[in-house]
Amino acid sequence: MEFERRFSSEAACRDYLARLRWPEGFCCPRCGHRRSWPIGNFRFQCANCDYQVSVTAGTIFQDSHKPLSLWFRAIWWITSQKTGASALGLQENLGLGSYRTAWTWLHKLRRAMVRPGRDRLSGRVEVDETYYGGHEDGALGRGAEKKTLIAIAVEERGAGLGRIRMKRVRDASAQSLQSFVTEAVEPGSIVHTDGWDGYTGLERKGYGHEVTVLEGRKEPAAELLPRVHLVASLLVRWLMGTHQGAVRREYLDYYLDEFTFRFNRRTSRYRGKLFYRLLQQAAGVDPVPYRQMVNHASD
Ligand SMILES: [Zn+2]
Repeated sequence: MEFERRFSSEAACRDYLARLRWPEGFCCPRCGHRRSWPIGNFRFQCANCDYQVSVTAGTIFQDSHKPLSLWFRAIWWITSQKTGASALGLQENLGLGSYRTAWTWLHKLRRAMVRPGRDRLSGRVEVDETYYGGHEDGALGRGAEKKTLIAIAVEERGAGLGRIRMKRVRDASAQSLQSFVTEAVEPGSIVHTDGWDGYTGLERKGYGHEVTVLEGRKEPAAELLPRVHLVASLLVRWLMGTHQGAVRREYLDYYLDEFTFRFNRRTSRYRGKLFYRLLQQAAGVDPVPYRQMVNHASD
């Protein structure tokens, strides 16, 4: 009820979004002037140079013909889904006429859930890879080709788990794995891996590197890196349960982002905080047109 009261009008949503984008007040992107006039529904005009800025420009709401209040409701609904959100559920909840719109919104919002390069993991971090899938498209007998490799990083918090990062990687080469580590983990952290060659040389990239190997075993055992293996099994359970395993490989990245967002905020008790965080990230994320999102599938 508080949500409905607070974001019942477009003006309320616009003002909230403007405060998220310019927490210290308006700042003209062209001249840096701090005073502006509201013009039209979503635009401000710089009082100094007359430059016009849209509140939604550069956010995932850019170019949307739907009201902002509907987007806000979508975010509110998604953050209330304990296990995960489906496009069909979103369509029904918002009363959207088109499944495709719901699907596109959900993927745009998933994309906003994790911001690469921001909030990298730190401290002691376990890193390992896991395979996902292998029987999609009924391609039996070619299972190995169809499997997807996912790199996972998990902060060690005593015996427990801190935040996580995960990403689909092309292969287990040093190039793939170390670019994942660089993106996911703050330099100066200690990266804890098994003895796989792909992790050799992390010291040169500014990390401490701790290697745990089990004598006489080639395959990494779950006991070596228990946190990564726990996260990997939770991920698979989530994909199989919430999404009935019906996750197309091309879109796996988006699901990994949603899982990461939810996992890293698993202790957040306040739905309002999740809402705020997702909206904030949606307002700071580059807009992704539908076409580009679908093209992404072919890489
Ligand atoms: Zn200006």
